[in-house]
Amino acid sequence: KLNFHPTGRHFLQIPGPSPVPDRILRAISLPTIDHRGPEFGALGRKVLEGMKTIFKTEHPVVIYPASGTGAWEAALVNTLSAGDHILMFETGQFASLWNKLATRIGLKTELLSWQGKDEHLPNAPGWRRGVQADMIHARLLEDKSHSIKAVCVVHNETSTGVTSDIAAVRKAIDDAKHPALLMVDTISGLASADFRHDQWGIDVSISGSQKGLMLPPGISFNALSPRAIEASKKANLPRSFWAWDEIVEMNKDGYWPYTSSTNLLYGLSEAIDMLTEEGMENVFARHQRWAAGVRAAVTAWGLPIQCADPSVYSPVLTGVITPESVDADAIRKLVQQRFDLSLGTGLGKLKGRMFRIGHLGDSNDLTLLATLTGIEMGLKLSGVKLAGSGVAAGMDYFANAS
Ligand code: PLP
Repeated sequence: KLNFHPTGRHFLQIPGPSPVPDRILRAISLPTIDHRGPEFGALGRKVLEGMKTIFKTEHPVVIYPASGTGAWEAALVNTLSAGDHILMFETGQFASLWNKLATRIGLKTELLSWQGKDEHLPNAPGWRRGVQADMIHARLLEDKSHSIKAVCVVHNETSTGVTSDIAAVRKAIDDAKHPALLMVDTISGLASADFRHDQWGIDVSISGSQKGLMLPPGISFNALSPRAIEASKKANLPRSFWAWDEIVEMNKDGYWPYTSSTNLLYGLSEAIDMLTEEGMENVFARHQRWAAGVRAAVTAWGLPIQCADPSVYSPVLTGVITPESVDADAIRKLVQQRFDLSLGTGLGKLKGRMFRIGHLGDSNDLTLLATLTGIEMGLKLSGVKLAGSGVAAGMDYFANAS
């Protein structure tokens, strides 16, 4: 509960759902139309084509009226059979949850994790780093009988703020001459961080609406490859709602086998227009710039950044490790009640040890500086000793970085 009557906009600085631009909210507010009528077919065809450009693919993209978790399940049930062995990589909470989902639907999962030493988070060292492609390469080389049917990795680990090198994972699979499918969760990466479904040789990419696409939660995606479509013809895991075949067939005319999320598709159409007008390269550069400004602030405070490897800092969010004596969730609660600012919580193994700053969606330099101000006040009020002013460092960065 806020301890004042709120005015102005709530600061939604969690790493998704992200703040939704007014242009998209207006598009979503239009009257719902007949999902079997001609106007809907044109909308369906437009968003299906548009999403191919966002995923950078020539192949079909499937849109589900479901959250990202549904699209995770869809990727697996369409391509795999009961008891299939899959290789996953523990980069954080979302990789762990996908692993749990895969186990629950009857797959045999193997979860690799980085086992080095970490001074700040000794119980979660792998949660500060990206996917280690060399470990995947070594494991696939051992798998002489090709029992591993798929390699599943998270592109942007939203629980930590680490973006993995997917091209390196593709190379690891190719260098091992292994036929496993490559599945990539880019639920929080797509449309904020560089992503190339075809060029990176991905078989199924998974995404959601409520992050870089700047929509409310509620729709999610599978981008397919010809190999994934071939695999779906032999896969025997039970599926009906998630089955690609009927959806892809009806999508040719812009329709779905069931009632679509019409108004979210209006929003998606607007989001595709906005991203295209700006240009995807500019969109990626803007997120990189925001991330660098936020990191400048965290560094000036003297607090460790959750991502320990600068080569894989996330452009989408930054995780901040708090001193052991301070509960990160108490800081979050304080800034929410005092300044109407929401920050991401530490998930799973990171509970109470860190908070996350989202820098995506309808934001700009000044909203991010205001966010940093709220955090700096919250840190001081919580008794955290700061090395210096993150707000001043952020202002310097945003004033001078082009
Ligand atoms: N994977 C990642 C990387 C995510 O960030 C999320 C949600 O935050 C999910 C999966 C789960 O998606 P959803 O909560 O939309 O079901």
